[in-house]
Amino acid sequence: MNNPARYLVTAALPYANGPVHIGHLAGCYLPADIYVRFLRARKKDVKFIGGSDEHGVPITIRALKEGISPQQVVDRYHAIIKESMEQMGISFDIYSRTSNTTHHETAAAFFKKLYDAGCFEERETEQYFDEQTHTFLADRYITGTCPVCANPTAYGDQCEKCGTSLSPEQLINPRSALSDAVPVKKKTKHWYFPLQQYEPWLKEWLLEGHKEWKNNVYGQCKSWLDSGLHPRAMTRDSNWGIKVPLPDAEGKVLYVWFDAPIGYISATKELTPQWADYWCKEDTQLVHFIGKDNIVFHCIIFPAMLKAHGGFVLPDNVPANEFLNIEGDKVSTSRNWAVWVHEYLKDFPGCEDVLRYVLCANAPENKDNDFTWRDFQDRNNSELVSIFGNFVNRTWVLMHKLCGGKVPKLHEELMDEKDRELVEKIQHSKFKIQNLLEEYKFRDALYEVIDLSRSGNKYMQEKEPWIVAKQLAENPEAQKSIDNCLHLCLQLTANLAILINPFLPGTARKMLQMMKVVDKMLDWENAGKLKLLSVGYSLREPQLLFRKVEDTEITAQIEKLNKGLIKPVMQENTPAPQPAEETTAPAAPVKPAIQFDDFAKIDLKVGTITAAEKVEKADKLLKLQIDLGFEIRTVVSGIALHYAPENIIGKQVVVVSNLAPRKMRGIESNGMILMAEDASGKLHFVSPESVINNGSGVS
Ligand SMILES: [Zn+2]
Repeated sequence: MNNPARYLVTAALPYANGPVHIGHLAGCYLPADIYVRFLRARKKDVKFIGGSDEHGVPITIRALKEGISPQQVVDRYHAIIKESMEQMGISFDIYSRTSNTTHHETAAAFFKKLYDAGCFEERETEQYFDEQTHTFLADRYITGTCPVCANPTAYGDQCEKCGTSLSPEQLINPRSALSDAVPVKKKTKHWYFPLQQYEPWLKEWLLEGHKEWKNNVYGQCKSWLDSGLHPRAMTRDSNWGIKVPLPDAEGKVLYVWFDAPIGYISATKELTPQWADYWCKEDTQLVHFIGKDNIVFHCIIFPAMLKAHGGFVLPDNVPANEFLNIEGDKVSTSRNWAVWVHEYLKDFPGCEDVLRYVLCANAPENKDNDFTWRDFQDRNNSELVSIFGNFVNRTWVLMHKLCGGKVPKLHEELMDEKDRELVEKIQHSKFKIQNLLEEYKFRDALYEVIDLSRSGNKYMQEKEPWIVAKQLAENPEAQKSIDNCLHLCLQLTANLAILINPFLPGTARKMLQMMKVVDKMLDWENAGKLKLLSVGYSLREPQLLFRKVEDTEITAQIEKLNKGLIKPVMQENTPAPQPAEETTAPAAPVKPAIQFDDFAKIDLKVGTITAAEKVEKADKLLKLQIDLGFEIRTVVSGIALHYAPENIIGKQVVVVSNLAPRKMRGIESNGMILMAEDASGKLHFVSPESVINNGSGVS
């Protein structure tokens, strides 16, 4: 959008069943904050909205396990999260929470409006039910094996290992997350939002209208839309959440992903009576900052809800980041493989900006990225301390030593090529950084700021004012050259304060103090200017902007991380997934031993099911076409009671390819596919962990 009248910036609502870790910061809070600070410095009308997401299953599970109420769980973590955000300088205009009244009213009214407009389909379906705890098992109430990657602790809504979005029915060997019981099916009624009706509109609005979105975001949306949307239940059986505002909905609440994004609207309402300007006027630019696991909710489901409701603006951009790994391994709250923000703040007091710097310089903007403590130390010591901090410190020390602690005069008539180069670089950097920030390229923008300070060091090194000073006795005129150098270095320092401010606000503030100037100097319009500090103005003594991070501090952190797997506060962070052993069905007795030669006679090959149909008058049989790479085989398989033909097209399977042909119901079957049978008698495909070439051998 060109020149929006106002900006509304949201950052994903963190889930209030645990503290925030640095992956959360790098994923959305830090980029959102940088963007907002940049807009504020440009005097834009902007509201920055955040808050805790306090509904949903993990919170009720944790409350149950700890023997406290869900409200107590969210009160505890809302407070911890809010404090961490404030200390890290994430400058929300409001940090609200979804358990408050305004939000309950707003979300219920939103649902009711859609209901009254006939936007929902009411459906009675059979769902998994835990007979021990009398609970319907949706989302994270149910765990089982992921059908895609075989992770044994996938949830009913998503596999956290491979990221696939799941439904409880897709889980293999499902168990209740509450009691570990094998669930039964029971009827229940819910309200479904027919997403497929919005598919043509979404394709036009998103795929045609927002080609400028980041590749990782656009690509994920396209693959969702290409594979077709389906009705999605927007209610759940639970007592914790926003009650479904209908008379016949006892024990039903809104699905957490229906209510959470509405939380942005509720929080804006709490913030300002002018909230509707931000949400309803077409000249608002709405930007959602999120992590990649929330893309579908913010780019497809929420926009479709807003469209169905009518009257709201749609997101102009959703610059989602990928994941930040820690020391080469995925963040895992259940294993406590994470760097927790509230712990960092305790271990590195006064170093908030260092973490902001490292997380931005290494942000997972286009692909997953890795945080390591060594890199943290390196970036601090060799970039912040040695380049940026060093330039500012040298300038200040030399200005006090060679110019009497005052801003020296600039003798324009004596300016040489190097001086002019520096001036040009200062002016040019502003626009470069501004363009990058406008395109949500925060890493590159930060690099430019550091690069500008690097130019300062280089300039100082070439000018060598400390050497020139030695000639002063014979040549008093040399003072002019010293003055020019330090005058320009001081103006560059003032520029650096403005340019670094969105990224490292605490550092910018320290620099203001050294310069004895007011906050207003940090206005973006001042960047690129060369008369920010007046000649003759006396400046304070330098203070160190950054300190060196020692090896011992880094070893301590790495040790802490490795030992951390048993830290109590973390252990309870998410319901610990059941260990694989416990979810495995009792094994059948082992058959008598065979020799390897016997086994080697069996030719197992990987193939892909390309067609499937029911065999007439045979309840159990499906006739399958399987692509083995070198040929297409017909295989008749007894899996019709377990799989619908339309659901298995494209599935990779393992085929006994040299089994003698056999006729079944008049069809010749040329091979057999391998199936695993669980304790309940359900059959499951045996598949390669990831898609590989058809015809690959199995041994
Ligand atoms: Zn998976």
